[in-house]
Amino acid sequence: MVRRDPRVRLNVPLLGEAELEAVGSVLATGFLTQGPRAQEFEALVAQLVGTDHAYATSSATTGIHLALHACGVQPGDEVVIPDYSFPATANAVIQQGAVPVFVDIDPATFNMDPTKLEAAITGRTAAIMPVHAFGLPADMNEINAVAAAHGLPVIEDAACALAATYRGVAAGALGTAGVFSFHPRKIITTGEGGMITTSDAGVADRIAVLRTHGAVRGDTYMSFVDAGYNYRLSDINAAIGIAQMERLDHILERRRSLAAAYDDRLAEVDGLTTPAVPDDRTHTFQSYVLMLDEAFDRDAVIHALKARDVETTLGTYSMHLQPYFRDRFAIADEALPSSTRAHRQALTVPLYPQMTESDVDSVVDALRSTLAESRSVRAG
Ligand SMILES: *Cc1c(COP(=O)(O)O)cnc(C)c1O
Repeated sequence: MVRRDPRVRLNVPLLGEAELEAVGSVLATGFLTQGPRAQEFEALVAQLVGTDHAYATSSATTGIHLALHACGVQPGDEVVIPDYSFPATANAVIQQGAVPVFVDIDPATFNMDPTKLEAAITGRTAAIMPVHAFGLPADMNEINAVAAAHGLPVIEDAACALAATYRGVAAGALGTAGVFSFHPRKIITTGEGGMITTSDAGVADRIAVLRTHGAVRGDTYMSFVDAGYNYRLSDINAAIGIAQMERLDHILERRRSLAAAYDDRLAEVDGLTTPAVPDDRTHTFQSYVLMLDEAFDRDAVIHALKARDVETTLGTYSMHLQPYFRDRFAIADEALPSSTRAHRQALTVPLYPQMTESDVDSVVDALRSTLAESRSVRAG
């Protein structure tokens, strides 16, 4: 059978001649590992975010691991994170030998509920790591206040939040360190890649050393002062990132304007709630995630939309429901009700810069028909 691509895909990265040329020019130099292109990419991101330092990494997952290590998280420590996130957030904590402590989310924003944070802090807590869900900054003032009261570093999982702002400050500059992803599903892409931003000089120095084998350069050769990693980003990937930074304003403008079109069209569709954006912050709309009412079987809606040529997916994952975390921590759904509900009822609809408003209309029409049918099936 021939596989047919859906008419409206979930996400399509925006790439062109500039990226092709950028890769070709790196290949032509013969210098392929982390070098001048990575430095240039780091400078662009540091300037955008407004931090003193930026360090390119091979992914956001390796970046988060590195940031946790550099912020002093040690084996046996606890790191407080929201339960509702891509599981890489928790995996990086476990890779550092630490224990993730899951906090429920605010159902309106999908972000860590700051009122639940204090209760999650223990004598073993070594860091707090909020996630800027789908590109919407978390409640950073409240989170930073709890962190300051306990003397804890805050690491922002800003994987989806490049150029998002909170009270005029960019994501990645709101905590001790922030980490971005350049996976093709994110705001800009390098294929695989990540970036840590920080203005903490001590954290920055540790990241620089740990990112490259724990090595410090001497006059003639290197000296290995720690058991570090190889978490570098190659200049091939970094060159793509530089070309993508040129497109960032356009990408954000398109994502926000298509999200506004969804808000507008979906206001007239019964049975769902559109994403909230508090006045004091800006959303990147890495994903446009809506909540279906309990009356609907979200997975059945995904299948019905696929039959109508529209690709959709769940929001993200309730981590305590995933087999590894369920087996290890056995947390009851009742302890994390909003995350559990989002795991079941949230729906990500197509959104990418090349989409048109008429694509938005097609998605909304398909969704309206699907929900109308599901309702009548349930009623009958
Ligand atoms: C995508 C994502 C990650 C992982 O990013 P990679 O670059 O693929 O490692 C981590 N956290 C969140 C919230 C993400 O969305």
